Amino acid sequence: FPEEFKAAAPIIQKIKDAGYEAYFVGGSVRDIILGQKIHDVDIATSAYPQEIKAIFNRTIDVGIEHGTVLVLWQDNQYEVTTFRTESTYQDFRRPDKVTFVRSLIEDLKRRDFTMNALAMTETGEIIDLFNGIEAIEKKQIKAVGNPHERFSEDALRMMRGLRFASQLGFIIEEETFAAIVENSYLLEKISIERICIEWVKLMLGRDAATGVGLFIASGCNNFCPGMSEQLFGLNLFQNRIHRQIKTEELAWALLMDSLNVANTAKWMKSWKLPNKLIQSVSSAMLFIKKRRECKSWSVKALYQAGFETVTLVEQLLEYTGESGDCSKYQYAYQDLPIHSLQDLAISGNDLLIEFDLKPGKWLGDILSKLADAVLFNQLPNEKKCLLNHCKEELLKNV
Ligand code: ATP
Ligand code: MG
Repeated sequence: FPEEFKAAAPIIQKIKDAGYEAYFVGGSVRDIILGQKIHDVDIATSAYPQEIKAIFNRTIDVGIEHGTVLVLWQDNQYEVTTFRTESTYQDFRRPDKVTFVRSLIEDLKRRDFTMNALAMTETGEIIDLFNGIEAIEKKQIKAVGNPHERFSEDALRMMRGLRFASQLGFIIEEETFAAIVENSYLLEKISIERICIEWVKLMLGRDAATGVGLFIASGCNNFCPGMSEQLFGLNLFQNRIHRQIKTEELAWALLMDSLNVANTAKWMKSWKLPNKLIQSVSSAMLFIKKRRECKSWSVKALYQAGFETVTLVEQLLEYTGESGDCSKYQYAYQDLPIHSLQDLAISGNDLLIEFDLKPGKWLGDILSKLADAVLFNQLPNEKKCLLNHCKEELLKNV
Protein backbone atom coordinates (compact mmCIF):
# COMPACT_ATOMS: atom_id res chain seq x y z
CA PHE A 1 0.00 0.00 0.00
CA PRO A 2 1.96 3.01 -1.26
CA GLU A 3 2.71 6.21 0.61
CA GLU A 4 0.69 8.35 -1.79
CA PHE A 5 -2.45 6.37 -0.96
CA LYS A 6 -1.74 6.36 2.77
CA ALA A 7 -1.53 10.14 2.66
CA ALA A 8 -4.87 10.38 0.86
CA ALA A 9 -6.73 7.71 2.87
CA PRO A 10 -8.02 10.25 5.45
CA ILE A 11 -9.86 12.08 2.66
CA ILE A 12 -11.77 8.98 1.75
CA GLN A 13 -12.41 8.34 5.44
CA LYS A 14 -13.88 11.83 5.91
CA ILE A 15 -16.17 11.42 2.90
CA LYS A 16 -17.33 8.08 4.25
CA ASP A 17 -17.89 9.55 7.72
CA ALA A 18 -20.24 12.04 6.08
CA GLY A 19 -22.25 9.10 4.74
CA TYR A 20 -21.02 8.77 1.15
CA GLU A 21 -18.91 6.28 -0.78
CA ALA A 22 -15.41 7.10 -2.02
CA TYR A 23 -12.64 5.15 -3.74
CA PHE A 24 -9.29 5.54 -5.38
CA VAL A 25 -9.80 5.15 -9.13
CA GLY A 26 -8.18 5.44 -12.53
CA GLY A 27 -4.57 5.26 -13.59
CA SER A 28 -3.12 5.31 -10.08
CA VAL A 29 -4.81 2.03 -9.11
CA ARG A 30 -3.57 0.48 -12.36
CA ASP A 31 -0.05 1.75 -11.72
CA ILE A 32 0.02 0.34 -8.19
CA ILE A 33 -0.82 -3.12 -9.49
CA LEU A 34 1.88 -2.67 -12.10
CA GLY A 35 4.30 -1.66 -9.36
CA GLN A 36 4.92 1.61 -11.16
CA LYS A 37 5.42 5.08 -9.81
CA ILE A 38 2.09 6.87 -9.59
CA HIS A 39 1.63 10.52 -10.45
CA ASP A 40 -1.87 11.63 -9.61
CA VAL A 41 -4.17 10.02 -7.08
CA ASP A 42 -7.76 10.38 -8.23
CA ILE A 43 -10.74 9.84 -5.97
CA ALA A 44 -14.28 9.07 -7.11
CA THR A 45 -17.25 9.55 -4.81
CA SER A 46 -21.01 9.28 -4.59
CA ALA A 47 -21.08 12.75 -2.99
CA TYR A 48 -22.00 15.65 -5.24
CA PRO A 49 -19.54 18.51 -5.67
CA GLN A 50 -21.43 20.79 -3.25
CA GLU A 51 -21.46 17.98 -0.68
CA ILE A 52 -17.67 17.56 -1.06
CA LYS A 53 -17.20 21.28 -0.60
CA ALA A 54 -19.23 21.11 2.61
CA ILE A 55 -16.96 18.37 3.99
CA PHE A 56 -13.59 20.01 3.39
CA ASN A 57 -12.34 23.44 4.43
CA ARG A 58 -9.95 23.96 1.58
CA THR A 59 -11.26 23.19 -1.91
CA ILE A 60 -10.89 24.68 -5.37
CA ASP A 61 -13.49 24.46 -8.11
CA VAL A 62 -11.64 23.06 -11.08
CA GLY A 63 -14.45 21.51 -13.07
CA ILE A 64 -17.67 21.52 -11.08
CA GLU A 65 -19.76 20.94 -14.20
CA HIS A 66 -17.82 17.69 -14.73
CA GLY A 67 -18.10 16.87 -11.06
CA THR A 68 -14.51 17.58 -10.08
CA VAL A 69 -13.45 19.44 -6.95
CA LEU A 70 -9.83 19.85 -5.97
CA VAL A 71 -9.39 19.07 -2.27
CA LEU A 72 -6.33 20.57 -0.60
CA TRP A 73 -5.11 18.23 2.09
CA GLN A 74 -1.89 18.78 4.01
CA ASP A 75 0.69 19.61 1.35
CA ASN A 76 -1.12 17.83 -1.47
CA GLN A 77 -4.13 18.30 -3.67
CA TYR A 78 -6.49 15.63 -4.87
CA GLU A 79 -9.09 15.59 -7.60
CA VAL A 80 -12.32 14.33 -6.13
CA THR A 81 -14.87 13.55 -8.83
CA THR A 82 -18.50 12.61 -8.41
CA PHE A 83 -19.57 9.28 -9.91
CA ARG A 84 -20.99 10.10 -13.29
CA THR A 85 -22.23 8.69 -16.54
CA GLU A 86 -21.74 10.24 -19.89
CA SER A 87 -24.98 9.37 -21.55
CA THR A 88 -25.41 11.96 -24.24
CA TYR A 89 -22.61 11.67 -26.74
CA GLN A 90 -22.86 13.95 -29.72
CA ASP A 91 -20.48 14.05 -32.64
CA PHE A 92 -18.37 11.18 -31.32
CA ARG A 93 -16.81 13.48 -28.79
CA ARG A 94 -16.65 13.55 -25.03
CA PRO A 95 -20.04 14.89 -23.94
CA ASP A 96 -20.20 18.42 -22.56
CA LYS A 97 -22.87 17.35 -20.11
CA VAL A 98 -22.50 14.60 -17.57
CA THR A 99 -25.04 13.03 -15.26
CA PHE A 100 -24.05 12.52 -11.65
CA VAL A 101 -24.97 9.15 -10.24
CA ARG A 102 -24.70 7.54 -6.83
CA SER A 103 -23.37 4.15 -7.94
CA LEU A 104 -19.76 3.17 -8.44
CA ILE A 105 -20.52 0.60 -11.11
CA GLU A 106 -22.13 3.20 -13.37
CA ASP A 107 -19.02 5.32 -13.04
CA LEU A 108 -16.63 2.45 -13.80
CA LYS A 109 -18.68 1.39 -16.82
CA ARG A 110 -18.03 4.64 -18.67
CA ARG A 111 -14.26 4.35 -18.31
CA ASP A 112 -12.16 3.52 -21.35
CA PHE A 113 -10.19 0.34 -20.66
CA THR A 114 -10.61 -2.45 -18.16
CA MET A 115 -7.20 -1.73 -16.63
CA ASN A 116 -8.46 1.83 -15.97
CA ALA A 117 -11.79 0.74 -14.55
CA LEU A 118 -10.48 -0.48 -11.19
CA ALA A 119 -11.38 1.04 -7.86
CA MET A 120 -9.64 0.67 -4.50
CA THR A 121 -10.89 1.25 -0.98
CA GLU A 122 -8.92 3.27 1.57
CA THR A 123 -7.72 0.01 3.11
CA GLY A 124 -6.31 -1.27 -0.15
CA GLU A 125 -9.08 -3.62 -1.21
CA ILE A 126 -9.47 -3.70 -4.99
CA ILE A 127 -12.85 -3.61 -6.69
CA ASP A 128 -12.51 -5.25 -10.07
CA LEU A 129 -15.84 -5.41 -11.87
CA PHE A 130 -14.45 -5.76 -15.42
CA ASN A 131 -11.50 -8.12 -14.98
CA GLY A 132 -9.05 -5.26 -15.00
CA ILE A 133 -6.48 -7.15 -12.92
CA GLU A 134 -6.47 -10.04 -15.36
CA ALA A 135 -5.93 -7.59 -18.22
CA ILE A 136 -3.00 -6.01 -16.40
CA GLU A 137 -1.49 -9.42 -15.71
CA LYS A 138 -1.90 -10.32 -19.37
CA LYS A 139 -0.55 -6.90 -20.33
CA GLN A 140 -3.69 -6.28 -22.29
CA ILE A 141 -5.54 -3.13 -23.27
CA LYS A 142 -9.19 -4.05 -23.55
CA ALA A 143 -12.17 -1.73 -23.89
CA VAL A 144 -14.82 -1.79 -21.16
CA GLY A 145 -17.91 -3.35 -22.76
CA ASN A 146 -18.40 -3.19 -26.51
CA PRO A 147 -15.30 -1.59 -28.03
CA HIS A 148 -17.10 -0.46 -31.15
CA GLU A 149 -19.66 1.46 -29.08
CA ARG A 150 -17.06 2.85 -26.74
CA PHE A 151 -14.95 4.29 -29.55
CA SER A 152 -17.90 5.76 -31.35
CA GLU A 153 -18.98 7.43 -28.10
CA ASP A 154 -15.61 9.08 -27.73
CA ALA A 155 -13.09 8.59 -30.52
CA LEU A 156 -10.21 9.95 -28.45
CA ARG A 157 -10.20 6.64 -26.57
CA MET A 158 -8.55 5.06 -29.63
CA MET A 159 -5.58 7.39 -29.36
CA ARG A 160 -5.50 6.75 -25.62
CA GLY A 161 -5.34 3.03 -26.32
CA LEU A 162 -2.39 3.48 -28.66
CA ARG A 163 -0.53 5.69 -26.22
CA PHE A 164 -1.06 3.23 -23.36
CA ALA A 165 0.40 0.52 -25.61
CA SER A 166 3.47 2.72 -26.00
CA GLN A 167 3.72 3.82 -22.36
CA LEU A 168 3.08 0.44 -20.75
CA GLY A 169 4.37 -1.92 -23.42
CA PHE A 170 0.94 -3.62 -23.46
CA ILE A 171 -0.81 -5.42 -26.32
CA ILE A 172 -4.15 -4.13 -27.56
CA GLU A 173 -6.67 -6.94 -27.30
CA GLU A 174 -7.85 -8.24 -30.67
CA GLU A 175 -11.47 -7.07 -30.73
CA THR A 176 -10.48 -3.74 -29.27
CA PHE A 177 -7.88 -3.25 -31.97
CA ALA A 178 -10.32 -4.29 -34.71
CA ALA A 179 -12.71 -1.63 -33.40
CA ILE A 180 -9.94 0.97 -33.58
CA VAL A 181 -9.32 0.07 -37.22
CA GLU A 182 -13.03 0.30 -37.92
CA ASN A 183 -13.59 3.60 -36.13
CA SER A 184 -10.31 5.32 -36.92
CA TYR A 185 -12.08 7.76 -39.27
CA LEU A 186 -13.92 9.20 -36.26
CA LEU A 187 -10.68 10.82 -35.14
CA GLU A 188 -11.53 13.57 -37.60
CA LYS A 189 -14.19 14.70 -35.13
CA ILE A 190 -11.71 15.12 -32.30
CA SER A 191 -9.91 18.40 -31.73
CA ILE A 192 -6.27 18.32 -32.73
CA GLU A 193 -5.26 19.61 -29.30
CA ARG A 194 -6.65 16.49 -27.60
CA ILE A 195 -5.16 14.15 -30.21
CA CYS A 196 -1.84 15.90 -29.86
CA ILE A 197 -1.66 15.31 -26.09
CA GLU A 198 -2.02 11.56 -26.66
CA TRP A 199 0.36 11.55 -29.65
CA VAL A 200 3.09 13.22 -27.61
CA LYS A 201 2.65 10.71 -24.79
CA LEU A 202 2.83 7.97 -27.42
CA MET A 203 6.07 9.31 -28.92
CA LEU A 204 7.63 9.55 -25.46
CA GLY A 205 6.51 6.12 -24.28
CA ARG A 206 8.99 3.41 -23.47
CA ASP A 207 7.69 1.29 -26.36
CA ALA A 208 7.09 4.11 -28.82
CA ALA A 209 8.16 2.09 -31.87
CA THR A 210 5.33 -0.35 -31.17
CA GLY A 211 2.93 2.55 -30.53
CA VAL A 212 3.81 4.19 -33.83
CA GLY A 213 3.48 0.82 -35.57
CA LEU A 214 -0.04 0.39 -34.15
CA PHE A 215 -0.90 3.96 -35.09
CA ILE A 216 -0.02 3.13 -38.69
CA ALA A 217 -1.52 -0.37 -38.70
CA SER A 218 -4.85 0.91 -37.32
CA GLY A 219 -5.05 3.58 -40.00
CA CYS A 220 -5.37 6.31 -37.37
CA ASN A 221 -2.64 8.24 -39.18
CA ASN A 222 -5.04 8.75 -42.08
CA PHE A 223 -7.21 10.96 -39.91
CA CYS A 224 -4.54 13.09 -38.29
CA PRO A 225 -3.33 16.28 -40.01
CA GLY A 226 -0.42 15.85 -42.38
CA MET A 227 -0.06 12.13 -41.62
CA SER A 228 -2.17 10.46 -44.29
CA GLU A 229 0.27 10.59 -47.19
CA GLN A 230 3.24 9.80 -45.02
CA LEU A 231 3.36 6.04 -44.81
CA PHE A 232 7.00 5.86 -45.84
CA GLY A 233 8.04 8.60 -43.43
CA LEU A 234 6.04 7.16 -40.54
CA ASN A 235 7.59 3.75 -41.08
CA LEU A 236 11.00 5.38 -41.12
CA PHE A 237 10.15 7.20 -37.89
CA GLN A 238 9.06 3.92 -36.31
CA ASN A 239 12.24 2.14 -37.41
CA ARG A 240 14.47 4.89 -36.09
CA ILE A 241 13.03 4.69 -32.57
CA HIS A 242 15.43 2.38 -30.76
CA ARG A 243 15.19 3.68 -27.23
CA GLN A 244 12.90 5.94 -25.23
CA ILE A 245 12.90 9.52 -26.52
CA LYS A 246 13.70 11.90 -23.68
CA THR A 247 12.05 15.18 -24.68
CA GLU A 248 9.05 16.32 -26.64
CA GLU A 249 11.25 18.60 -28.72
CA LEU A 250 13.48 15.72 -29.78
CA ALA A 251 10.46 13.58 -30.60
CA TRP A 252 9.04 16.19 -32.96
CA ALA A 253 12.46 16.78 -34.48
CA LEU A 254 12.90 13.07 -35.18
CA LEU A 255 9.40 12.92 -36.64
CA MET A 256 9.90 15.94 -38.89
CA ASP A 257 13.27 14.60 -39.98
CA SER A 258 11.56 11.35 -40.99
CA LEU A 259 8.49 12.68 -42.78
CA ASN A 260 8.64 14.25 -46.19
CA VAL A 261 7.34 17.72 -45.44
CA ALA A 262 7.92 20.78 -47.60
CA ASN A 263 7.29 23.34 -44.87
CA THR A 264 8.00 22.17 -41.33
CA ALA A 265 6.49 25.22 -39.64
CA LYS A 266 3.28 25.00 -41.62
CA TRP A 267 2.99 21.29 -40.91
CA MET A 268 3.52 21.80 -37.19
CA LYS A 269 1.01 24.64 -37.14
CA SER A 270 -1.64 22.23 -38.38
CA TRP A 271 -1.06 20.38 -35.09
CA LYS A 272 -1.51 23.67 -33.22
CA LEU A 273 1.83 23.27 -31.48
CA PRO A 274 3.28 26.17 -29.48
CA ASN A 275 5.24 28.69 -31.54
CA LYS A 276 8.42 28.20 -29.58
CA LEU A 277 8.43 24.48 -30.36
CA ILE A 278 7.63 25.12 -34.01
CA GLN A 279 10.50 27.58 -34.23
CA SER A 280 13.07 25.36 -32.61
CA VAL A 281 12.19 22.29 -34.67
CA SER A 282 11.95 24.26 -37.94
CA SER A 283 15.31 25.82 -37.27
CA ALA A 284 16.84 22.42 -36.56
CA MET A 285 15.45 21.07 -39.84
CA LEU A 286 17.02 24.03 -41.64
CA PHE A 287 20.51 23.54 -40.21
CA ILE A 288 20.65 19.76 -40.07
CA LYS A 289 21.04 19.53 -43.85
CA LYS A 290 24.35 21.39 -43.94
CA ARG A 291 25.51 19.71 -40.77
CA ARG A 292 25.04 16.33 -42.47
CA GLU A 293 26.72 17.43 -45.69
CA CYS A 294 29.74 19.00 -44.01
CA LYS A 295 29.84 16.49 -41.12
CA SER A 296 30.52 19.48 -38.91
CA TRP A 297 29.47 23.04 -38.11
CA SER A 298 31.09 26.06 -39.69
CA VAL A 299 31.67 29.06 -37.44
CA LYS A 300 29.09 30.99 -39.41
CA ALA A 301 26.48 28.23 -39.13
CA LEU A 302 27.00 27.93 -35.37
CA TYR A 303 26.51 31.69 -35.03
CA GLN A 304 23.41 31.75 -37.21
CA ALA A 305 21.81 28.67 -35.67
CA GLY A 306 22.21 29.66 -32.02
CA PHE A 307 22.77 27.50 -28.96
CA GLU A 308 19.33 25.89 -28.84
CA THR A 309 19.32 24.82 -32.46
CA VAL A 310 22.86 23.49 -32.29
CA THR A 311 21.85 21.47 -29.24
CA LEU A 312 18.70 20.06 -30.83
CA VAL A 313 20.47 19.11 -34.07
CA GLU A 314 23.22 17.33 -32.14
CA GLN A 315 20.71 15.59 -29.85
CA LEU A 316 18.95 14.30 -32.94
CA LEU A 317 22.20 13.10 -34.54
CA GLU A 318 23.23 11.49 -31.26
CA TYR A 319 19.87 9.74 -31.06
CA THR A 320 20.00 8.46 -34.65
CA GLY A 321 23.62 7.37 -34.32
CA GLU A 322 24.92 9.82 -36.92
CA SER A 323 27.94 10.91 -34.84
CA GLY A 324 26.17 13.75 -33.10
CA ASP A 325 28.15 15.42 -30.35
CA CYS A 326 26.16 17.79 -28.22
CA SER A 327 28.84 18.87 -25.80
CA LYS A 328 31.51 19.31 -28.48
CA TYR A 329 29.41 21.74 -30.48
CA GLN A 330 27.94 23.44 -27.46
CA TYR A 331 31.51 24.27 -26.45
CA ALA A 332 32.30 25.35 -29.98
CA TYR A 333 29.29 27.65 -29.89
CA GLN A 334 30.24 29.10 -26.53
CA ASP A 335 33.76 29.72 -27.81
CA LEU A 336 32.54 31.99 -30.59
CA PRO A 337 33.87 35.54 -30.13
CA ILE A 338 30.31 36.90 -30.35
CA HIS A 339 26.84 35.36 -30.34
CA SER A 340 24.81 38.23 -31.79
CA LEU A 341 25.17 41.80 -33.00
CA GLN A 342 24.48 42.91 -29.44
CA ASP A 343 27.80 41.36 -28.43
CA LEU A 344 29.74 43.68 -30.76
CA ALA A 345 31.76 46.30 -28.92
CA ILE A 346 30.05 48.90 -31.05
CA SER A 347 26.36 49.59 -31.68
CA GLY A 348 24.43 50.98 -34.63
CA ASN A 349 23.85 54.09 -32.61
CA ASP A 350 27.59 54.52 -32.00
CA LEU A 351 28.11 54.47 -35.76
CA LEU A 352 25.36 57.03 -36.45
CA ILE A 353 26.89 59.44 -33.96
CA GLU A 354 30.47 58.85 -35.06
CA PHE A 355 29.86 59.39 -38.77
CA ASP A 356 26.89 61.74 -38.51
CA LEU A 357 24.91 59.78 -41.09
CA LYS A 358 21.24 58.88 -41.46
CA PRO A 359 20.22 55.31 -40.64
CA GLY A 360 19.64 53.07 -43.64
CA LYS A 361 20.51 49.76 -45.19
CA TRP A 362 24.21 50.61 -45.03
CA LEU A 363 24.05 50.39 -41.25
CA GLY A 364 22.84 46.80 -41.12
CA ASP A 365 25.30 45.84 -43.85
CA ILE A 366 28.26 47.26 -42.07
CA LEU A 367 27.29 45.78 -38.71
CA SER A 368 27.02 42.33 -40.23
CA LYS A 369 30.40 42.82 -41.94
CA LEU A 370 31.88 43.71 -38.57
CA ALA A 371 30.26 40.69 -37.00
CA ASP A 372 31.78 38.43 -39.66
CA ALA A 373 35.20 39.95 -39.19
CA VAL A 374 35.01 39.44 -35.43
CA LEU A 375 33.60 35.92 -35.81
CA PHE A 376 36.46 34.89 -38.08
CA ASN A 377 39.01 36.47 -35.76
CA GLN A 378 40.02 39.02 -38.37
CA LEU A 379 39.28 41.83 -35.96
CA PRO A 380 39.33 41.98 -32.17
CA ASN A 381 36.02 42.92 -30.63
CA GLU A 382 37.24 46.34 -29.50
CA LYS A 383 35.51 49.62 -30.09
CA LYS A 384 38.51 51.47 -31.53
CA CYS A 385 39.42 48.74 -34.01
CA LEU A 386 35.84 48.35 -35.12
CA LEU A 387 35.45 52.09 -35.68
CA ASN A 388 38.64 52.25 -37.72
CA HIS A 389 37.51 49.35 -39.80
CA CYS A 390 34.18 51.10 -40.44
CA LYS A 391 35.92 54.22 -41.55
CA GLU A 392 37.89 52.26 -44.14
CA GLU A 393 34.78 50.48 -45.33
CA LEU A 394 32.83 53.71 -45.66
CA LEU A 395 35.66 55.44 -47.55
CA LYS A 396 35.74 52.51 -49.98
CA ASN A 397 32.14 53.26 -50.89
CA VAL A 398 32.56 57.00 -51.49
P1 ATP B 1 -2.05 8.63 -16.74
O1 ATP B 1 -1.20 7.71 -15.98
O2 ATP B 1 -1.46 9.04 -18.04
O3 ATP B 1 -2.59 9.79 -15.95
P2 ATP B 1 -4.72 7.68 -16.55
O4 ATP B 1 -5.28 6.32 -16.80
O5 ATP B 1 -4.74 8.17 -15.14
O6 ATP B 1 -3.28 7.72 -17.16
P3 ATP B 1 -6.17 10.07 -17.16
O7 ATP B 1 -6.27 10.80 -18.43
O8 ATP B 1 -5.49 10.71 -16.01
O9 ATP B 1 -5.49 8.68 -17.48
O10 ATP B 1 -7.66 9.67 -16.77
C1 ATP B 1 -7.99 9.10 -15.51
C2 ATP B 1 -9.04 8.01 -15.68
O11 ATP B 1 -10.22 8.56 -16.26
C3 ATP B 1 -8.62 6.90 -16.63
O12 ATP B 1 -7.88 5.90 -15.94
C4 ATP B 1 -9.98 6.39 -17.10
O13 ATP B 1 -10.56 5.55 -16.15
C5 ATP B 1 -10.79 7.64 -17.19
N1 ATP B 1 -10.78 8.29 -18.52
C6 ATP B 1 -9.98 9.29 -18.94
N2 ATP B 1 -10.25 9.67 -20.20
C7 ATP B 1 -11.27 8.88 -20.60
C8 ATP B 1 -12.04 8.77 -21.81
N3 ATP B 1 -11.79 9.54 -22.86
N4 ATP B 1 -13.02 7.85 -21.85
C9 ATP B 1 -13.28 7.06 -20.79
N5 ATP B 1 -12.60 7.11 -19.63
C10 ATP B 1 -11.61 8.01 -19.52
MG1 MG C 1 -4.10 10.12 -14.50
